[in-house]
Amino acid sequence: MAQNFDAIIIGAGVIGTSIAFHLAERGLKPVVLERKQVAFGATGSSSGLVRMHYDLEAESRLAWESFQYFRNWSERVGGECGFRRTGFLHIEPANHYTQLRANVEMHKRIGIPTSIITGDDVKKLSPSFKTDDIEIAAYEPESGYADATLTANSFLSAAKERGAVYQQDCEVLGAEITAGKVIGIKTSRGNFFAPITINAAGAWASKVSELFGFHIPLDTWTHDVIHIRRPSHIEEHLTVIDSSLGMYFRPDSGDLTLVALEDDSRMGEPPEADLGYVAKDFVERAIDRICLRIPAMEEGSLHSSHLGRDGLTPDQRAILGQAGPQGYYLATGFSGTGFKLSPAIGMCMSELILDGKSKRVDISGFDPLRFERGEHLKGENDYGFIWRDSASK
Ligand SMILES: Cc1cc2nc3c(=O)[nH]c(=O)nc-3n(C[C@H](O)[C@H](O)[C@H](O)COP(=O)(O)OP(=O)(O)OC[C@H]3O[C@@H](n4cnc5c(N)ncnc54)[C@H](O)[C@@H]3O)c2cc1C
Repeated sequence: MAQNFDAIIIGAGVIGTSIAFHLAERGLKPVVLERKQVAFGATGSSSGLVRMHYDLEAESRLAWESFQYFRNWSERVGGECGFRRTGFLHIEPANHYTQLRANVEMHKRIGIPTSIITGDDVKKLSPSFKTDDIEIAAYEPESGYADATLTANSFLSAAKERGAVYQQDCEVLGAEITAGKVIGIKTSRGNFFAPITINAAGAWASKVSELFGFHIPLDTWTHDVIHIRRPSHIEEHLTVIDSSLGMYFRPDSGDLTLVALEDDSRMGEPPEADLGYVAKDFVERAIDRICLRIPAMEEGSLHSSHLGRDGLTPDQRAILGQAGPQGYYLATGFSGTGFKLSPAIGMCMSELILDGKSKRVDISGFDPLRFERGEHLKGENDYGFIWRDSASK
């Protein structure tokens, strides 16, 4: 089977499907090629936090652009993304309060609804939280979480309605490159031809990029998550990144709370390694941690655990742009934070491909060649890496 398209997108995660939607919206006929099925990768296990608080302005801008989609999903894309507004709290340790204040000022300049609140304010919002250690925190009243699998499916359906084609169980195995230009690719289901190919292959993106002769320094990040059933007297609390205690947590449907750790990440596992079980002792560590912030969780019970894997770059920021042979683009390396950015990534990549430049948000800093130049992206008021492995605790 040989087929001709305007663009080939490798990977039907939330990034590939968003790019397909935005290219189809601009009148192109893209094909999305997926080795397994939609949301098979990181997308299918994402915790789905939707917040704008970053220490790098470009990421906050991408998150803010994306938020315009999440809060208006059925009109903007169609279908559902499962967005729930819970309010979002970002807690940093006291030695980061200067950065926290400066970042909230930066977010306000962008137009993001956010403010600095006190520990007493936190207690009013979520009475079950222990707040003695919190002098200040950043609060986003509009933020919350969404369902990444629903989001990817909605993007894909909307892309197909606009002329995109989807091929699942279709593994990309090779690239056709002539005179320095990508002309097509070889797959387990035949050859596909297009002048543009976008690598959105998540944790597998480095392997895929080698097919195009372009090396990316992509590691993997394997992330464990638990759900705890809250005792009935604990309220449905805020969505929280608690970097002071090295964790994040959010409410989930029913009386569940999702908990994951920042400093218990597993780096460097092969992309295809088994995703069967969370790490030994993770459940105990996560329960101990959530009880530090919500002591009444001692009376909760474990509901379930799961894990997922994303691509991790040396500066824990995405790789976005054109590199290697002409017509080859990358939208990958989301380093455990790509879901909430996915609508804007699709929009920006479509602008880059069709207009030569991303106009709504400047994504030039995410240049795939920055690592070759020895450059690493860093927040203007930097908190340091989000993800640390257990050895660095
Ligand atoms: C447990 C967990 C929790 C997370 N929580 C959050 C969060 O709260 N908020 C947030 O913003 N982000 C979060 N993230 C990160 C976010 O989910 C990811 O950054 C995002 O889903 C990445 O999407 P993607 O499309 O790039 O990759 P993926 O979803 O991994 O999709 C890549 C796809 O490419 C396919 N593929 C690979 N190789 C080939 C090939 N050769 N041929 C064809 N197809 C191929 C794969 O099968 C896969 O379906 C989390 C991630 C994990 C794992």
